[in-house]
Amino acid sequence: MSDHPMKPATVAAHAGGASDPLGGVVPGLHPSTTFRRDESYALLAGGTYGRDHNATVQQAEEVLRQLEGAAATRLFPSGMAAAVAVLRALPAGARVVVQSGIYYGVTAWLRDQGDRQGLTVEAVDAADPLAIRAALMAPADLVWIEVPSNPWLKIADIAAIARLTHDGGGLLAVDGTAATPVLTQSLALGADISMHSATKAINGHTDVVAGALSCRDGALPLWQAICTDRHEAGAILGPFEAWLLMRGMRTLPLRLRQMCETAQSLAQALADHPGVEAVWYPGLPEHPGHGLARAQMCGGFGYLVSVLVKGGAAEALAVAGRLRLFTRATSLGGVESLVEHRATIEPQSGIPQNLLRLSIGIEDADDLWNDLDRALPG
Ligand SMILES: *Cc1c(COP(=O)(O)O)cnc(C)c1O
Repeated sequence: MSDHPMKPATVAAHAGGASDPLGGVVPGLHPSTTFRRDESYALLAGGTYGRDHNATVQQAEEVLRQLEGAAATRLFPSGMAAAVAVLRALPAGARVVVQSGIYYGVTAWLRDQGDRQGLTVEAVDAADPLAIRAALMAPADLVWIEVPSNPWLKIADIAAIARLTHDGGGLLAVDGTAATPVLTQSLALGADISMHSATKAINGHTDVVAGALSCRDGALPLWQAICTDRHEAGAILGPFEAWLLMRGMRTLPLRLRQMCETAQSLAQALADHPGVEAVWYPGLPEHPGHGLARAQMCGGFGYLVSVLVKGGAAEALAVAGRLRLFTRATSLGGVESLVEHRATIEPQSGIPQNLLRLSIGIEDADDLWNDLDRALPG
């Protein structure tokens, strides 16, 4: 085999080149928590204990590492465990600049725990180039952005923010959950740490909670601190979850291709629907981040579409109530389409009352359109 890097579809389908000692075509599942030693007390295969050495978890990490183009990848028991592993590894007194209007769990942790960790936190609209430039006039130790952001679907400029951050001596972390490494290569664009909730499209089957961190440079002190914390504090993913995750990832590029194609066509059709006030989707030419998304994302604009229904909360909830194929549930990125009234979940966040966030799955696009068309007024 030549040594040029494989494309994502190949990496995913082959589970990152996993090999099974018994010749199995799919990677095995290794549940053992401990490892036998020989008569001279030497370890047989290199592993010591399950918290750090689980072959299934390591193989799932290897698939993601290749997809991210990362120096190293670590899995965590949830996306939030991964996100907080970064924030907790910051030194006391660190200044964190965080994008406003991002995943509520990250914002909530910074609000509730940031003080106790000795962090100074400033929120800024990172998709506004002037606002982020102003916030980074004073150096930040860490900049945390979410691209695309959810449910606002704003597009921050990863490369530009990486340069500004690095000029001040800081590090950039990108939550790329709504894009996955297949649609956005945050590390190649200059981010130092790429974070994903693998619960979403990476696993894609709505049956595993997991999170991932990847780094551009494994020697980075912050990365070392994150790995030490995972080792000592033990926030690990179990082997069964890692195995399911690996199974889910084998079709990741294929699923995403369909999800993006359907999301694009539904966003266009919804934008012309008389019952719709506005559609937020980075794939629409009128989206303020469209040009940037075109440059920064590869092969599609993602699977999240925010629809502002004409009217208020009651009208939006009525539309959600009339949908039959879209399941009313939180979360995103699965093979089945979901609809969420975000303002019900986050009443204080300023999210428009008439906003429905759609997570587009892999169902037939015409069936999804008929469901939306029937549920919308007009
Ligand atoms: C879901 C989500 C998280 C948190 O991940 P969990 O796996 O639910 O802990 C973080 N960021 C984004 C953008 C998410 O969608």
